[in-house]
Amino acid sequence: MTTFAAMAVTGELNPATSGHSTVTDRPRDLSVTTYTGWFNVDKQSTENSGLIQHVTFAFGSLSPILFYACPVTFNYNKTVCGAIFKENILREVVFNNVALVNPKSRGYVTLNSADPMDAPLIFGNTFEVESDLEMLAEGCQRVYDLTKTSYFKKVGGCFIRPPLPECDSLDFGSKSYWKCYARVMANSLYQPAGTCMMDPNGVVDSDLKVHGLEKIRVVDASVMPKSPSGFTSAVVQVIAERAADIIKKEHCVE
Ligand SMILES: Cc1cc2nc3c(=O)[nH]c(=O)nc-3n(C[C@H](O)[C@H](O)[C@H](O)COP(=O)(O)OP(=O)(O)OC[C@H]3O[C@@H](n4cnc5c(N)ncnc54)[C@H](O)[C@@H]3O)c2cc1C
Repeated sequence: MTTFAAMAVTGELNPATSGHSTVTDRPRDLSVTTYTGWFNVDKQSTENSGLIQHVTFAFGSLSPILFYACPVTFNYNKTVCGAIFKENILREVVFNNVALVNPKSRGYVTLNSADPMDAPLIFGNTFEVESDLEMLAEGCQRVYDLTKTSYFKKVGGCFIRPPLPECDSLDFGSKSYWKCYARVMANSLYQPAGTCMMDPNGVVDSDLKVHGLEKIRVVDASVMPKSPSGFTSAVVQVIAERAADIIKKEHCVE
């Protein structure tokens, strides 16, 4: 499951965008300006296990969406969000999501009991493999380095360092600080996949049928053998289109 850590950075001093969700000049626009790109923090790896997707959301000052998203969507606590909101009163804020898209750690889902109404047990196992934490920490460090670029220097932008009691005694900017930061700020960004994976030893075959059963298919993010190197929604749509084609062919429908 993709694991990410958010890093908020201030942008322009721009009270004119007060109340704007995004950096456009439309106050009630509920969309968020977003940019994305990838970089690799482990060029030695043949499995792309150091691939980082950098997704940014650019908010206008005093942004209602940021006010909602920080504690609710991203689930950060009042202290972390408070530090970000304080800087967002007059300044634009760039919310950087640093996502390790091919982590080696793998979680699992299992039954809690024989009662089908009982909620399953979900084990995320985030950072079970230590190198995942190191890669995400390296990704955070690289994104922090962006605050030293000419644009951020020009607008006086800087990293909003949230108070993190677990990390604050460590040297800011050291490897151990960024490892602590990545661990404390880690989040799933709601991209789980692979709990019913398509594999001879997994749950479904290449026609998306559950092994040994003729009339049950699984068609969703759970059939992916591993997480895609990016967000999951587009892949789910492709799986759904493919399922529709397979079913039509089986029933001789064009
Ligand atoms: C807050 C949030 C933000 C996200 N942002 C992005 C993004 O920006 N980009 C991106 O690519 N992905 C994003 N995702 C991930 C993306 O939404 C999922 O990967 C995708 O929706 C998974 O599709 P799915 O079909 O596997 O499951 P779902 O989309 O969850 O579909 C499951 C469906 O099953 C239905 N259901 C559940 N139980 C039952 C039942 N007992 N009987 C009948 N129906 C049932 C549910 O109502 C639901 O409609 C985000 C997810 C969240 C939660």
